[in-house]
Amino acid sequence: MPAGLRKRVLAGMVVASLVMAFVAIAVWLGTSRFLDSFDWVDHTNAVLRALERDHAAIREVEASQRGYLVTGQVDYEQEFYAATRLARDALADTRKLVADNAEQSERVHRLAELTEQRMQIAMATAQAFRSDGYDAARKLVVAGKGRDLMARIAALHAETVEAEEALMATRQARAVADATRLRLLTLLGLASSIGILALVGRRMLVETRSRARAEAHTQEANLALHEKVDELHLRASQTREMSRYAGMLQSCRNTAEAIAVTRDACQRLLPDLGGAVYLVRASQDLVEGIGVWGAHVVPSASLLSPQECWALRRGRTYEVADVHAGMCCAHASVPPAEVPASCLCVPLAAQGDVMGFLYFSGRDRLAVAARDIVVAVAEQLSLSLSNLRLQETLRVQSIRDPLTGLFNRRYLEESLERELARCQRRSLPLAVLMIDLDHFKRFNDTHGHDGGDALLSQVGRLLQWQSRAEDIACRFGGEEFTLILPEMDADGAYERAQRMRELVEGLQVWHLRETLTPVTASIGLAWCPGDARASADLLRVADMALYRAKREGRNRVVRAADVGDA
Ligand code: GH3
Ligand code: MG
Ligand code: MG
Repeated sequence: MPAGLRKRVLAGMVVASLVMAFVAIAVWLGTSRFLDSFDWVDHTNAVLRALERDHAAIREVEASQRGYLVTGQVDYEQEFYAATRLARDALADTRKLVADNAEQSERVHRLAELTEQRMQIAMATAQAFRSDGYDAARKLVVAGKGRDLMARIAALHAETVEAEEALMATRQARAVADATRLRLLTLLGLASSIGILALVGRRMLVETRSRARAEAHTQEANLALHEKVDELHLRASQTREMSRYAGMLQSCRNTAEAIAVTRDACQRLLPDLGGAVYLVRASQDLVEGIGVWGAHVVPSASLLSPQECWALRRGRTYEVADVHAGMCCAHASVPPAEVPASCLCVPLAAQGDVMGFLYFSGRDRLAVAARDIVVAVAEQLSLSLSNLRLQETLRVQSIRDPLTGLFNRRYLEESLERELARCQRRSLPLAVLMIDLDHFKRFNDTHGHDGGDALLSQVGRLLQWQSRAEDIACRFGGEEFTLILPEMDADGAYERAQRMRELVEGLQVWHLRETLTPVTASIGLAWCPGDARASADLLRVADMALYRAKREGRNRVVRAADVGDA
């Protein structure tokens, strides 16, 4: 029992004990008082009986004296004297009984005196009868003294009885009042005991209930606290995982790495969900599933049109909590009705550019926390993909010539060094072609700068189309191009150069709905190790060969090896 409840119960019991003790004392005192009153009533009854006896005794004295005078027999005389003794004894008893009451004592005292006087007269009459005969006795009787005394005795007796009866009435009334009070006290005691018991019981019941409620509340609070702590732990680990994921994403060099990192993070963060990353192709007409992980309760097509996904169409997250009740995207294959499933598409968008979407499917409806994670992952991935694309654009812009799409001169110098070193390491040849369009200035003059640009762009495409995977086609500057041909010797390169020259010659360029004048190209060829070993030397001798080709009448290929011969 808790300390508070124990204290209150103890206090209740003390109060109950005090009240019950008070009631018991009151009942005890009331009972004593009632018994006392009852004794007094009894006593008054005894006094009344004694007075009756006294009166009977004096009448007996008078009757026995009269009998003696009438009969003169000794038996009557003896009876007479016995009656006087009885009368005296009776009066003595009565005086004792009324000793407590001064008024009644006084009356009984007077009654005894009158009785004594009356008995003296009776004895004197009896004496006179025995010694002087009937006449002497008769004289005394006729004198009437005895009769007067008897009348006074009767009057005093009646007064005493009346006083005693008055006392009796008072005492009886008091006894009744005491009995009534006692009854009330008993009822009060019973009622107060029941009341206290009820109060204590109710208090205990209330305490027990409130304690049970408090315990239940504490248990609930404990449970909620544990859940909160678990949730906080989970949140903390998810936050750690998310920041780790964000850090990893920043270190990714390309889209494939970013998707691999996303796949790994999602498998840790959302182990119950199958997921996939879909990216819109550069052509914008198709969306392709790139990274897929986990078991998919709702499988999704690997290739789809952007119109088949609600998230892509609306540009916002699209969730179907119950695939059997909601409307799924066309790319999702709804499982049989007995399999509960949900799916979610979150668009991957940054700076107004929709790059694709994240797809998730699972058995249960996604919890709020899981949805937050999905959205956070989508945001991080969108940002990362957008950054990677930007980086790629910048990288391409830094090494590519925007007009022709070919590598620029800076890239040419870097890659020539690299390729040359690689080929020399493996003792393989490497050839360089320097290509210059003939009379391009004139062409520009004829067709305008835009026409010139159209031609340059077309030649760029031609060079790319004619290149092997390992060749590096560059715009050296203006209308001058360089083609690096790794692992190719002078003869192979010469053939390629001739072919290239012929293709340029046969090139038909359309610009502003007209065919532009055909152009020709002059090509200088140098190769390593035949003509030079260092990259700068190789370019220089190739340029010299080109210069030679120009001088010799243009539209031709000249080997560097032949330059010295001229
Ligand atoms: P040659 O046969 O001796 O090479 O004569 P050419 O006219 O081709 O040579 P030149 O070097 O005298 O002229 C090159 C011209 O190319 C000059 C310039 O206006 C033009 N040019 C350079 N860059 C561009 C460009 O990006 N676009 C256009 N349309 N013209 C360019
Ligand atoms: Mg030139
Ligand atoms: Mg030129």
